[in-house]
Amino acid sequence: MTYRGRFAPSPTGPLHFGSLVSALASWLDARAHGGRWLVRIDDIDGPRTVPGAAEHILATLDCFGMRADEPPVWQSRRTARYEQAFAQLQAATGLVYPCGCTRKEIADSLVRAHARHTTLAYPGTCRDGLHGKAPRAWRLRVPDSAAHEPEVMRFDDRWQGPQSQNLATEVGDFVLFRADGQWAYQLAVVVDDADAGITHIVRGADLLDSTARQIYLQRCLRVPTPSYLHVPVVVNEAGEKLSKQTGAQALDTSRPLDALHAAASHLGLELGAGARASLDAFYAAAIPAWTQRLAALHRT
Ligand code: GLU
Repeated sequence: MTYRGRFAPSPTGPLHFGSLVSALASWLDARAHGGRWLVRIDDIDGPRTVPGAAEHILATLDCFGMRADEPPVWQSRRTARYEQAFAQLQAATGLVYPCGCTRKEIADSLVRAHARHTTLAYPGTCRDGLHGKAPRAWRLRVPDSAAHEPEVMRFDDRWQGPQSQNLATEVGDFVLFRADGQWAYQLAVVVDDADAGITHIVRGADLLDSTARQIYLQRCLRVPTPSYLHVPVVVNEAGEKLSKQTGAQALDTSRPLDALHAAASHLGLELGAGARASLDAFYAAAIPAWTQRLAALHRT
């Protein structure tokens, strides 16, 4: 197998410390496996995309010594592929269906369900028809006890260990095409990773919860499931995930080694003093330290 990994930033602002940790982890894992490392710009969500942010992210990665082995892929240029994948799902009877629920209707029914201590998943209101409502979004039907697929999706995360999620009770039928006319992240990421032949996904643990949905979608589309590794997310003093919304600062590109050492330390990598000398020295130490860190995780 030829290892193919990737870093897939959303260009909603400049690279910040949280995204540097994901970039570094995916880079180190690819290099530790002698594999290829790709960059994909997740600019499918038009309204959230900040003009110039993608170029800024690519320039910052370059300055930190992380260069992709192939030209970057842009989600915004791949909508024809999402349409094809969606058509493939539509051709399978009953797998996708239009949904006419508004956010408020779903929220209201969830509040009612929550009050009964049942489920927070999409309640499946439009599964058997639109009930006179206009179609807004398209959803993928998740397996329930009547289906051949198991209800509980399981996978072994290379960092977080064994994971399981019951899609029917914890998520419900999920959106593939959004009410605002955009392809959903879950569909785009699965199609993109499959088309790029990605074998290993290394990213932040905020996406751990999306993984079961993505594995289910891979099965529906009959594409291979990559292996997964989710690194701990970086949080601010208030315990919120670092992001543009929570006020994350852009990285200081004049001192890349400082940020890289901080990112390595967040990942629990032990690097000797020599790793401070240059970017080359940093990576020469960080690649074997990454391998050791993963081995130590599995011993505990
Ligand atoms: N673009 C997504 C994000 O920045 C990451 C997608 C992924 O790694 O699967 O949250």
